[in-house]
Amino acid sequence: MGVISNSSLYKKKSAIDHVKALAFGRKAGTTEEYIAMDYIRDSLKKKYIKTELDPFLWVSIWGLYILLFVILILIMLFIIFLSFFIIAARAFGYITLFISIYFLVYYILSVSVYKVFDLTQPVQRGHISHNVTTKIEANVYRKRKPVIIFCAHYDSISINYSERIINSMVLIFILYVFIFFPLNLTMDAQFIFKLINIILLFGYLIFFISIRAKNKSIGSVDDASGTAILIELSKLFHINPLNNIDLIFLWTGAEEMGLYGSKAFCYRNFKNLDKEYDLDKSYVINVDMVGSYIGLIDQTGIFKKAKLNISLNNILEDTAREKEIPLRKEIKSISFMGDHTVFQDYAKKSKRKLQVCWFYSSEDSRFIHSSKDTPDKCKPENLNGCIDLCYHTLKRLDTDIV
Ligand SMILES: [Zn+2]
Repeated sequence: MGVISNSSLYKKKSAIDHVKALAFGRKAGTTEEYIAMDYIRDSLKKKYIKTELDPFLWVSIWGLYILLFVILILIMLFIIFLSFFIIAARAFGYITLFISIYFLVYYILSVSVYKVFDLTQPVQRGHISHNVTTKIEANVYRKRKPVIIFCAHYDSISINYSERIINSMVLIFILYVFIFFPLNLTMDAQFIFKLINIILLFGYLIFFISIRAKNKSIGSVDDASGTAILIELSKLFHINPLNNIDLIFLWTGAEEMGLYGSKAFCYRNFKNLDKEYDLDKSYVINVDMVGSYIGLIDQTGIFKKAKLNISLNNILEDTAREKEIPLRKEIKSISFMGDHTVFQDYAKKSKRKLQVCWFYSSEDSRFIHSSKDTPDKCKPENLNGCIDLCYHTLKRLDTDIV
């Protein structure tokens, strides 16, 4: 396969060097996330590219999910104990009630916290992260031109279990809650069954509480790869802007905590973008994980598979074929995380045909969020391949517009 990048465009080692430079835990809200933010800004500053910093508040969505599962477990323990150990049942009842109220407050905070502009106002449990953005204007001035927004998150997260384990554990838990547990109740189970249920529920309680880990992952595939690709692309287009399309590069913070960077960005900018640009002809390119190969998500959905976009993936595929860049189209059944989904929601609400695409190498999801997500998992030829692919696709879109 070899290195297929066009050597005249950029240095072949640059992207992988960024990944290596960013090889440390960059958990949202920590000093390390700030160091990563500075790294992006410094890399662009060396090429005289100005960036903007946009701070926002967030609360961890992980804590919210964990609380929800804990409440479910407590309710079930309450029901089991009710039939033979009233005092314990009462205790579980009160604890559930108390945590539920806390959950409600937490939930309200999680859906509104990033909308706060005045960060001097103290918000309980809120943390501050930043979006880094830069805009590269087209050569030709025109009203309501299209815009292409590139996004990648520079924060990372460490989790004690792989995505696959979490998905299967949650699936089994849901089946247990909705099928096995009610069945058990109607059958008026024996004491030994009750005991098994109690042990199982305590097991799950430990599992949910122990999901989060300290900085184990140095987040190379997820998503130093995308961060690096965006740095190189912005440098490329800074020297060589498109004629008819403006470009916005967005490095999001606190993505792993619940897509807060993109939520804050869309909340603050989407209306203005809609006024300034023709969003029906615009695109969002989310580069989240380029590792052992270049993956492009084509369809998502558990039961009903839906295409991620009307034409953007086809154009990317055509370009890949033409430039001989290996590209793998994939189907992702369970997908709830990704900055592009926030743009999708906003586009839907304002009835715009804004197309999104998602670079994501599914097979690498077995490494991410753990100590296995190291720079060697990012193949330099894939990082460069993604840069080439995006560069040539944009050049093509730029000429097709006229
Ligand atoms: Zn990611």
